[in-house]
Amino acid sequence: MIKKVIIIGGGVIGMSTAFQLAEKGVKDITIIEKDNIGSGSSSQAAGIVTCLQWNETSVKARMKSLDLFEKFSQILDGYTFQQVGCLNLSDKKDYDLGSDLRDLHDELGAKYETYIGNELTKKFSDLKAEDDEYGILDPRGGYSEAHTYIPALRKKIENMGVKIFENEEVRNFTFSGNKTNGLITFSKTENKEKSYNCDAIICAVNAWTNLILSPIDFKIPMKNFVHERFVTKPFDRELFLPAINDRVYQSYIRGTEDNRILVGTSQHNPENFVIEDKDFNINELHPYPNALDFLKDSFKNRVPIIENKEWDYHTVGLISVTADATPVIGPVPNIEGLYLCSNFHSGGFAYNPVAGMLISEHVINGETSIDSESYLPRRFEEFNTKEYLSKTHKLEDLEVKRH
Ligand SMILES: Cc1cc2nc3c(=O)[nH]c(=O)nc-3n(C[C@H](O)[C@H](O)[C@H](O)COP(=O)(O)OP(=O)(O)OC[C@H]3O[C@@H](n4cnc5c(N)ncnc54)[C@H](O)[C@@H]3O)c2cc1C
Repeated sequence: MIKKVIIIGGGVIGMSTAFQLAEKGVKDITIIEKDNIGSGSSSQAAGIVTCLQWNETSVKARMKSLDLFEKFSQILDGYTFQQVGCLNLSDKKDYDLGSDLRDLHDELGAKYETYIGNELTKKFSDLKAEDDEYGILDPRGGYSEAHTYIPALRKKIENMGVKIFENEEVRNFTFSGNKTNGLITFSKTENKEKSYNCDAIICAVNAWTNLILSPIDFKIPMKNFVHERFVTKPFDRELFLPAINDRVYQSYIRGTEDNRILVGTSQHNPENFVIEDKDFNINELHPYPNALDFLKDSFKNRVPIIENKEWDYHTVGLISVTADATPVIGPVPNIEGLYLCSNFHSGGFAYNPVAGMLISEHVINGETSIDSESYLPRRFEEFNTKEYLSKTHKLEDLEVKRH
């Protein structure tokens, strides 16, 4: 019986994991975060979610995430899931290529609506599309504002008894044979080393995953990429837009809770970013200088009200992508008691509720209620990870699996 669990990393994945463990009856749950809750990529995210994914596991997982976002909207104080719909916008060729996927969505009960050209403007008056552009709308999709979701989820899990230690960096694991039985940290506030015992450790450190794994002989073939989003000043009226994954411009755009427009891309950051030391902080990143101009130019026809609008602020973070562009959720091979929940490409916000569910099922039951074999870390046991990590990669070399 699992009694005491430590989660490393206080982003949305770590917090959702704590929520799920607490709901399933685990009494002693601690999150250890080297900076502050949400200070990783989570607070930078656009928070867009859709369940219209590309294989059975990811569709089922995202449908569960949508159930949980709807639930959180009811039970988290101060948080509302903005269910404005999530639109995948593509050209005719791309739309035709998606026909097998639509069959899969039908089979799995993932609902969608199809709109062509100006039908999109009739549905969303701030949106423009060419006659040969196709929109597939996930009516259950939408977005969360990171700045309301993160404090609301934190408050909830603290009320459920989860302990949170901030400004405390995990530096090593302790072992009993091939089992981890605790960890060593350094508290920046107390300026001292601390040690903890526990039955299970969950690493939810996303971009830092291989740094946390440095004491052991297993790594993930993963690359981090800088990713940025920009936000306009508020408009003085309500906006009529879904959250849009725009495959024509390989970027995304949505409204915000306070009537601004948010746009994002990783188009201009093709080379992977290397975190040199464990203490790296997301604040050290800057947006690529040409990214905003690219986005303004791309979207001025798509959402004409952005033309000449003043831009207010940006956020920058890291997306973390494995060699097969698929998340890592499950036990570390050959080490009992150590689990990973990380590397969600640009979809970690969308995944967070279900990722917390799946990893808590691994820890408590040793199996998951959705078949998530393809997420297990052990798939990389035979992979030449050392060689993969030694090379520089470009985002365009990897599969794009957005939100
Ligand atoms: C600009 C931008 C836009 C995005 N938009 C979307 C979107 O629309 N939809 C979507 O689904 N996803 C989006 N994402 C991706 C999403 O933000 C991430 O996938 C998600 O936030 C990952 O959450 P996490 O909790 O795993 O990681 P993080 O939030 O990065 O949390 C990891 C935490 O681990 C801590 N940590 C690291 N090492 C240690 C250590 N040794 N000891 C203790 N703590 C440690 C870090 O300080 C950090 O707080 C976006 C990302 C960016 C950058």
